[in-house]
Amino acid sequence: MKYELVCGLETHVELSSKSKIFCSCRTDFGAEPNTHCCPVCIGLPGTLPTLNAEVVNLAIKAGLAVNCEINTVSKMDRKNYVYPDLPKAYQISQYDLPLCKNGYIELGSGRKIRIERIHIEEDAGKLVHKGGDIYIDYNRGGVPLIEIVTAPDIRSSNEAKEYLEKLQLIMRYIGVSDCKMQEGSMRCDVNVSVRPENSNVLGTRTEIKNMNSLSFIVKAIEFEQKRQSQIIEKGQNVVQETLRYNEELNFTESMRSKEDAQDYRYFREPDLVTISTSREKIEAIKSSLPRLPDVRLKFYVETLKIPEKDAKLIVKYKNAADFFEDSIKGVKNAKIVSNFIIGQMFSKLETEDDKERFNTSLTSESMNELSKLVDSGKINMNLAKSALNKMLETGEGIHEVISKKDLQGINDEDLKKVCEKIVDENLEVVNDYRNGKNKALQALIGKVMRETRGKANPQQTEKNLVNIISDN
Ligand code: ADP
Ligand code: MG
Ligand code: ZN
Repeated sequence: MKYELVCGLETHVELSSKSKIFCSCRTDFGAEPNTHCCPVCIGLPGTLPTLNAEVVNLAIKAGLAVNCEINTVSKMDRKNYVYPDLPKAYQISQYDLPLCKNGYIELGSGRKIRIERIHIEEDAGKLVHKGGDIYIDYNRGGVPLIEIVTAPDIRSSNEAKEYLEKLQLIMRYIGVSDCKMQEGSMRCDVNVSVRPENSNVLGTRTEIKNMNSLSFIVKAIEFEQKRQSQIIEKGQNVVQETLRYNEELNFTESMRSKEDAQDYRYFREPDLVTISTSREKIEAIKSSLPRLPDVRLKFYVETLKIPEKDAKLIVKYKNAADFFEDSIKGVKNAKIVSNFIIGQMFSKLETEDDKERFNTSLTSESMNELSKLVDSGKINMNLAKSALNKMLETGEGIHEVISKKDLQGINDEDLKKVCEKIVDENLEVVNDYRNGKNKALQALIGKVMRETRGKANPQQTEKNLVNIISDN
């Protein structure tokens, strides 16, 4: 029998606020261990948390960007458990009144992956294993997180990947998080079950904890799907348990079973007040959202006629997309600009981080000017490409790299001569035009363009040709 995959994801995303969620310690990644700590975030008795307003704003932003409703009344709760990375022995999180609920992300196929809730919480510290000893770095303790929980709507490892990539891109566009999985600012718990195809009942699930690589998430889901299908095939039952994925050997191993499942004894955090958010504030945050990647992709493909593959490459990096949009103003054929960005500019930006930052000495004004020259036929593509490469290398402006002579195009007298030559050499085409074939004129214009290496002005050329032909 064939078994269908059922998967739900719980994604932790570190918010980009400068300070922690309940104190004013900094949140930067990679600092000396235990240098960004204070009595509040290491949980000394007698300290009191203060909720960082920026964290609430960022979480609402995230919720709105993935189509969530925002709860105007929300609160924080204590989730109790004992572990060395959690000095208070409870995490301040949200239980039954999360900040955001009922959203979704739409996949390319049109399938919607529902988002049940997004809540805010504090991160725990980090255990560092070194030469048989275990050290604790509390810098990460109190870093603000959102947890984004999907319904069990994902049906393949590919859908899981697409969902996560879309989530990551949206969070980056709205500036809520850099979502770097390798740095741990995006981490995922992967819930997997299988069931006979066409069944509507959910099977028993396992949960693979703390994954931080897309390719391993894909592998782990596929491994688990196969493992569970084989168990059911044998007439046995899947055990509900928490698993760890072994990256080297590609298999999942048990961390704890349902019987050891912890009772977190959730209760309301007594040291923090209710979070109330006005409708006005929610509307204000909504209208501050930038245009999201899907909207841009549609515009590039449908309106600007950029090939989808190219449009996706540009949309993938917000700074590149912003640069692209600034550079196309007044350019009829926007593909000239997308080709320059993908061909000339991306090839100089080696890493994903470089492309993300999109640091370049070229201004969008220069790109715009150059593209207009190509668009209007004042310079040809070869000249434009070499000019662009030079501008990218030296940081020079367009007028420094393209000579006056090249920019001037061709003078009227010379253009007339070329047109006469083309007419003389193509009498058959000229006759076609005389007999009412308008396409023939386009062919002649094309020949003049080739002869002048793209410098001739098309309108001027047409006028000349029509004059010469009617004088003959
Ligand atoms: P918990 O809080 O114990 O982890 P939840 O019920 O909140 O459990 O579910 C957590 C995640 O598990 C959600 O993303 C949900 O979609 C997913 N999930 C729940 N049941 C199943 C199932 N039978 N198969 C796959 N995923 C599931
Ligand atoms: Mg869970
Ligand atoms: Zn602190």
